[in-house]
Amino acid sequence: MNVLITGGAGYIGSHTCLELLLKKANVFVYDNLSNSNVKSLVLVEELARNKVGFYKGDIRNCYELSSFISSNMIDCVVHFAGLKSVGESNSDPVKYYDNNVSGTISLLKAMERCKVKKLVFSSSATVYGTPNELPISEAAPTSTINPYGQSKLLVEKILADVAKADSDWKIANLRYFNPAGAHPSGLIGEDPKDIPNNIMPYVSQVAVGKLEKLSIFGGDYNTPDGTGVRDYIHVTDLAKGHLAALNYLNSSQACGFSSFNLGTGKGVSVLELIKAFEKASGKNIPFDIVARRQGDVAACYADPTKANKVLGWKAELDIERICQDAWRWQVNNPTGY
Ligand code: NAD
Ligand code: UDP
Repeated sequence: MNVLITGGAGYIGSHTCLELLLKKANVFVYDNLSNSNVKSLVLVEELARNKVGFYKGDIRNCYELSSFISSNMIDCVVHFAGLKSVGESNSDPVKYYDNNVSGTISLLKAMERCKVKKLVFSSSATVYGTPNELPISEAAPTSTINPYGQSKLLVEKILADVAKADSDWKIANLRYFNPAGAHPSGLIGEDPKDIPNNIMPYVSQVAVGKLEKLSIFGGDYNTPDGTGVRDYIHVTDLAKGHLAALNYLNSSQACGFSSFNLGTGKGVSVLELIKAFEKASGKNIPFDIVARRQGDVAACYADPTKANKVLGWKAELDIERICQDAWRWQVNNPTGY
């Protein structure tokens, strides 16, 4: 199987490339390196003892992308390429719609041209907005409050229309909950360019002494300990979810456009996460409880039953393992790649 991975040099993409190579797939990465370092792929090749076909290019360049797809005889695509900062999407919405929405349209055109019609898309639990019910199933209503979330929801709608118009398309839309952790080797992991917005890399940098202390955004939520609750999923489990989705797309069971939650089904509070990280690292994590962050929901965790049943996939690793692996990556690579 020849798989194109757009955005494959990034955090989730590199872990997925590794799992695919370990399963003997032929992996071809197309990435403009706008938020990644090609060293991630060198390390993936080292871990897998196998090669990745890499091309530095922007998915909005439909001509180059089409030639890459046809020259490598691609069978299916996993589409990670996108921008992911909620804050930046608020200040520069056009950049987000252009990269995430126009970029996906360009990819769809290139795939049509090359008659490749199997696609796995990286969506996000952000499309559920403020959930009415927990855990969240795929049938829950969708809504978004920022351009990043809106770009994911727009792409989901475009993909559903594409599959509706042409029954040859098979599309697995994966809604990730909170990806975290790193490969257990400590060789590849998350490498934020600026001060992290997400809690896990922030806590790691506090533990290693790069940042002074964590600000907990809100201690008065209607949750067991008052802090925000999320469903943290180990990046290796998440990567394996993509392999399960590709197997599904290659089976006779696959039809049109289907959405799947990729999460553990278990909610973990900020205070619980800090405790697990302190245990894993042996370091004290100083924190202050400050005002809530605008746009945050109190609690968000998945009902992963559909992915369990249809994809035969289940997250295996818990918050302890996530923290241990995040810590190993942080200590081995204090300045990233
Ligand atoms: P990342 O930034 O590490 O990886 C994205 C990769 O895409 C980067 O290597 C970047 O250089 C590349 N890229 C961006 N725009 C491109 C373009 N126009 N052309 C070619 N390459 C381009 O992010 P990640 O955490 O690995 O996320 C991967 C995907 O999963 C994204 O679409 C993101 O929105 C989605 N997602 C991430 C999370 C999360 O918390 N990490 C949660 C839900 C969904
Ligand atoms: N959070 C926090 N301090 C931080 C970053 C995040 O208290 O510096 C909290 C945030 O309010 C939420 C949880 O940690 O309850 C997860 O936040 P993250 O940004 O990692 O993910 P998302 O909000 O996208 O689910």
